[in-house]
Amino acid sequence: MAASDFSQLIAATADTIAAHAHELTALDQAIGDGDHGLNMKRGFDAVRAEKAAIAAKPLPDALTAVGTKLVMTVGGASGPLFGTLFMALGKELSGTPDRAALTAALGKAIEAVSARGKSQPGQKTMLDVLQPVYEALAQGKTAAAIADAADKAAEATVPMKALRGRASFLGERSIGHMDAGARSTALLVRAVAEAIEGS
Ligand code: ADP
Ligand code: MG
Repeated sequence: MAASDFSQLIAATADTIAAHAHELTALDQAIGDGDHGLNMKRGFDAVRAEKAAIAAKPLPDALTAVGTKLVMTVGGASGPLFGTLFMALGKELSGTPDRAALTAALGKAIEAVSARGKSQPGQKTMLDVLQPVYEALAQGKTAAAIADAADKAAEATVPMKALRGRASFLGERSIGHMDAGARSTALLVRAVAEAIEGS
């Protein structure tokens, strides 16, 4: 991937997180502590601040740098988990991955997030978006269809009962609200899908 393309990906992800920070905060206020929007904005703004230096690196190193930055800046439960996702992608991907390599790397990265969070899909977390995105990628879906699958998967967390993270403290009362991390993951997926599609 060209440095300019990776730089564009960083800008697109940071833009969507900033544009939806209030929404993410509101979602986290309903069943968490209301910091998810700010946490994510702080993290992606920090990545954006180093956009040029990060994008100049080979793809695996650039992804690892994004993950490291997110771990250092996002905080909360989600910081180490999003950090793990990007660091694992950096570890698994080679310089110019094709769809098969990207799919395999995402599968490994999801396993890493799952191990780190001691969590599985079905527990009302970011994994409930990551797993369907992996499946859509594996099925050869278009970028637009993958972004739609991510949105649908985030919507599907509404009727779920949270079994991990702060929302799990609410038990049954977590039902009826979208998981904030699922929503932020869907936003990131759409930004990346649209940036890749447009390039
Ligand atoms: P905190 O819960 O510490 O306030 P955030 O509000 O930034 O952190 O992030 C909350 C999000 O993190 C949740 O909406 C959920 O998607 C995700 N999350 C929390 N715990 C886990 C876990 N164990 N596994 C996967 N995702 C998790
Ligand atoms: Mg929170």
